[in-house]
Amino acid sequence: MQDTGVHLRDVTKSFGAVDVIRGVDMDIPRGQFAVFVGPSGCGKSTLLRMIAGLEDTSDGQIAIGARDVTHEDPADRGVAMVFQSYALYPHLSVFENMAFSLRLAKRPRVEVDEKVRRAAGILKLSDHLDKKPAQLSGGQRQRVAIGRAIVRAPDVFLFDEPLSNLDAELRVQMRLELARLHKQLGATMIYVTHDQVEAMTLADTIFVLQGGHVQQHGAPLDLYDDPSNRFVAGFIGSPS
Ligand code: ADP
Ligand code: MG
Repeated sequence: MQDTGVHLRDVTKSFGAVDVIRGVDMDIPRGQFAVFVGPSGCGKSTLLRMIAGLEDTSDGQIAIGARDVTHEDPADRGVAMVFQSYALYPHLSVFENMAFSLRLAKRPRVEVDEKVRRAAGILKLSDHLDKKPAQLSGGQRQRVAIGRAIVRAPDVFLFDEPLSNLDAELRVQMRLELARLHKQLGATMIYVTHDQVEAMTLADTIFVLQGGHVQQHGAPLDLYDDPSNRFVAGFIGSPS
């Protein structure tokens, strides 16, 4: 199988004179579920957007597998991003929302139909394909947003706080579904969250970010048991 791990080397981002990402190195092996946590403004979304190609790097390299994608078009990277605001098209049906990128890519009708129906099956949306987003619950809308990523069969999924608009009960349900989805698809996933429980339960590896760099990274229990400083402890460490 093709290597689809995500590898960052000394990645830097400045907006004007402000250094927002400062020399980030990371290696996320193929098929891993990586989680970024850290305070608001520490650069989590900027990092994701650079991996997606929605934002240029100021310096450094980004590779997917052995392929340097630093200057590659977003559409060529094999990456799909799911946002917190579902960004669905309100006038289109669930089916057409999920089919949108495939239609843009001029995929044959049979293929579009097959891919959308398969994604809908995985996400329990099969009975809702003719509805408009306004007729769906928040959880269903978020599933449509995930479905739009799935139909593209990306090597890498990027999630930017995808559950933070949902109520507590739905978050738990969607968290379990995301874990199932990861198992089922086997894709590399990078997930940004504020939620400690989400991070602890979903992650193979947690990256704790602060001020544009990685404070510490490791398996959830290792960080929990042995945070390298008070900052990390405050985010995911055991109360002491
Ligand atoms: P997070 O997702 O961790 O909350 P962001 O990546 O959104 O953080 O932002 C990191 C920092 O970069 C913040 O200080 C933010 O104000 C700044 N920033 C993000 N996007 C831009 C932009 N387009 N122009 C200027 N500053 C930006
Ligand atoms: Mg953000």
